Amino acid sequence: MTREKQVEHYDVIVIGGGPAGLTAAIYAGRARLNTLLIEKALIGGLATYTNSIENYSGFPNGPKGEYITNEMKKQAEEMGVKFKLTAVKSVDFEGDEKIVETFRNKFIAKSVIIATGGRPRTTGAQNEDKFLFDKGISFCATCDAAANTGKHVLVIGSGDAAIEEGMFLTKFADKVSVSVIHDEGKMDCNEIAREAAMANPKMAFIWNTVVDSFEGEDMLERINLKNLKTKEIIPVETDSCFEFIGYLPNTEIFQEKVKMSGSQYIITNERMETNYPGVFACGDVREKWLKQVATAVGDGAIAGFAAEKYIAETEQFEEILMQNEKPGLIFVYNAIDPDSRKFLSVIDSYEKSKQGAIAVNRVDVYKSTGLADRLGVKNYPAVVITHEGRISSILYEGICEEGFCTATFDELFKKACKDCNK
Ligand SMILES: Cc1cc2nc3c(=O)[nH]c(=O)nc-3n(C[C@H](O)[C@H](O)[C@H](O)COP(=O)(O)OP(=O)(O)OC[C@H]3O[C@@H](n4cnc5c(N)ncnc54)[C@H](O)[C@@H]3O)c2cc1C
Repeated sequence: MTREKQVEHYDVIVIGGGPAGLTAAIYAGRARLNTLLIEKALIGGLATYTNSIENYSGFPNGPKGEYITNEMKKQAEEMGVKFKLTAVKSVDFEGDEKIVETFRNKFIAKSVIIATGGRPRTTGAQNEDKFLFDKGISFCATCDAAANTGKHVLVIGSGDAAIEEGMFLTKFADKVSVSVIHDEGKMDCNEIAREAAMANPKMAFIWNTVVDSFEGEDMLERINLKNLKTKEIIPVETDSCFEFIGYLPNTEIFQEKVKMSGSQYIITNERMETNYPGVFACGDVREKWLKQVATAVGDGAIAGFAAEKYIAETEQFEEILMQNEKPGLIFVYNAIDPDSRKFLSVIDSYEKSKQGAIAVNRVDVYKSTGLADRLGVKNYPAVVITHEGRISSILYEGICEEGFCTATFDELFKKACKDCNK
C-alpha cells in the first residue's frame, strides 16, 4: 500500500544547503517569508570539503569551509528558516503553486530557489575515494595552490581549466606534471594556453596517459599512470593531485523542465530568474564564469531578494491591480523620470473626479519592472485600463505631454464597458 505524502505549504523552498542556498534562505527568512531549506547531504555543501578557505572576504585567516557555512546556517536559523535533511526527488514548476517532492513529503511553495551546486567529475581509478579532498586529491587550484608551495603536483586533464589552473599552480609548486590522454603536443585547451604551458619550464607533460590507481598510506603519495598505447604503468611520486576533467552540475531532477546549457547548467538572467516565473537558480548550479563561495553567496542574495519581490508582486498583481470589483486604471511610470512624475498629479485629480468609481493604482518601475512585465507594459509611462480583472487596453502615446486630455481615459473605459463610466 502506498502511503499518502504529507503536504506542507511554504512561501519559499530552497533546494540545496551550500553557501548559495544558505544565503538565499537568509534573505528570504529576513523578509519574513515562511522558508524551508532542503539539503540531501551536509549543510554547507562543497565548501565543507575544504580545510581552509583563504579567499572569502572578511575571513583573512583561512578558516575551515565548515566554519563559514555553520555561521551561515546559524544566521538562517535566527531568521526563522526551517531545515529538512532529505533529497528532493522531483519538482513541478508548471502552475502558480510550485511543487517539490521528497520521499515522504509534498511541499508546495509560492517560489522555489534551486541551489543544488555541482560535483567535480572524477577519474574512477582505484583508491580514488580514499584520497578525495583533504587527503591529496583536489579539484580547486584557486583554493589549494598555496598549500603546495615548493612541492610536486600532478594535474589530470588538458582542457582550458586543467592547463590554466596548472599554470597558476606553477606560481607555488616547484614542478607541475600534467597527465594528458592525447598524443604528444595535443591538448584540449585553447592554442594560447597550450603554447604558454609548453614553454613553461616548471611544467612537464606525460602523454597518452590515464590514472590507473592512487597510492599512499593516509595521504596520497604516488599515482600510477597507464600509457594507453604501451600499457606501461608509470609511477609518479607526488604531493597532491589536481583533477580537472570536468564538473557535473546536480541538475538531473530538473532535466527537461528548467532551461539548461549544453553542459546541463541552469541558465538564468542576472536576477537569477529561470524560464519559470517564481523559480530561481543560484550558485554553482547555474551557467556562469567563476564558481566560488563568494559568487555563490552573491547569487544567493539576489535569488532570495528576487523571490521576495516575486511573491510581493504576485500578491499585489492579483489582489490590487487585477481586482475585478471596479474598472481599473494603472499608471505605470518611472519615479526618476520628471515628466512621468509630473503626470502623477493628473492621475490624482482624475481619481478624485471619479469619486471612487474607478480603482486607480500607480506602479513605479524604478526599483523593479516585475509588475510592469506582468501587465505586458513595454515602455514607460503607460496607462493600463482593466475591466473585470482583465487588461482592456494599454495607452502609451501622448501621456505626460502638454495638453493630454484625460477624456481619453473616459473613452477607453467606455470602450471596455458601456456601463462603467456612468
Ligand atoms: C575541495 C574544494 C575546495 C574548495 N575551496 C574553495 C575555496 O577555498 N574558496 C572558494 O571560494 N571556493 C572554494 N570551492 C568552491 C566552493 O565550494 C563552491 O563554489 C561553493 O560551495 C558553491 O556553493 P553552492 O551553494 O552553489 O553549491 P554547493 O556547495 O555544491 O551546495 C549544493 C548543495 O545542494 C545539495 N543538493 C544537491 N542536490 C540536491 C537534492 N536533490 N536535494 C537536496 N539537496 C541537494 C548538495 O548536497 C549540496 O550540499 C572549493 C570546492 C571544492 C570542491
